[in-house]
Amino acid sequence: MRIQGTDLWLDANRKKDFCFVSHAHIDHAKRHKKILATPQTAKFYQHRLGETETRILEFNQPKRIKGAKVELFPSGHILGASQILVEKGGVRMVYTGDFKLRGCLTAERIQIKKCDILIMESTFGLPDYVFPPRKEIIKKLTGFVKKTLSQNQTPVVLAYSLGKAQEAMKILGNLGFKLSVHSSILKLASVYQRFGIKFKNCYRYYSRDLKGKVLLTPPWLRNSKMINNIPKKRIAMLTGWALDPGAKGTYGADEVIPLSDHADFWELTQYVKKASPQKIYTLHGFTEFVSHLRALGYDAERLEPKAKPYKLGKELLSNYDLFSNL
Ligand SMILES: [Zn+2]
Repeated sequence: MRIQGTDLWLDANRKKDFCFVSHAHIDHAKRHKKILATPQTAKFYQHRLGETETRILEFNQPKRIKGAKVELFPSGHILGASQILVEKGGVRMVYTGDFKLRGCLTAERIQIKKCDILIMESTFGLPDYVFPPRKEIIKKLTGFVKKTLSQNQTPVVLAYSLGKAQEAMKILGNLGFKLSVHSSILKLASVYQRFGIKFKNCYRYYSRDLKGKVLLTPPWLRNSKMINNIPKKRIAMLTGWALDPGAKGTYGADEVIPLSDHADFWELTQYVKKASPQKIYTLHGFTEFVSHLRALGYDAERLEPKAKPYKLGKELLSNYDLFSNL
């Protein structure tokens, strides 16, 4: 997407001259000539994609950039993950990136701003996806770990290496469990430490040093020798998709736990009510969520690759398009 008339792209999936990167997950962070990002995202981006010319913007420090007023503010998704507010011609447009409303131990709490146009993620935009309270989710995770350790087995926890894994390190480490952590997760955890988030009871993974420890690894290692060679183990996967009936089979796990960095159906709806936009575009989600928003009285549609530029208000109509996703 590009904010028309500004040359500022938002999470573009191809190389651009200047692009806002909401956070450093691979589906959002591609290699660009120059990026606009928070200090945390810039560091993760550098870790994953190497040095890039960067315009750093702290949260809640509005700046004029390429002819528009731009402000970054927390999305609550992972550390440093940011939404962007662009104001131009008196119209306020927010792009959320990935977000969640629930608090956690490793990301800033989300802020929600009123806006005219909202471009939002809607990954879990079906009523089937309402996550249990965080307390229950943590109880399920610690219950899994305790039970597995008490049976003299190794608890293996699969968690995406940026965001989810550090949250698991913090939850379990703070509760006194000892963790054996895969190097890809530890590398990214070092960026968290640089920004003041400390981890307890977390150690680098050694295959011969798993006794009494929880093994924390990214899901792509599920079928690796590293896991297959552990004689007695039980495996848990941390994901919002845990609510799907076949999730255990999908992830090859004995347990699936709905710890998510995304908003569930209820949170998505709450977000929209608080932002009270006149126009909503959804991304990465089910078409049913658009119908749900329309039933609530919102002018909503899915942002398709060929969506027409949206114009808001008479003045704007006569002047310029607010944005287009060229
Ligand atoms: Zn993400």
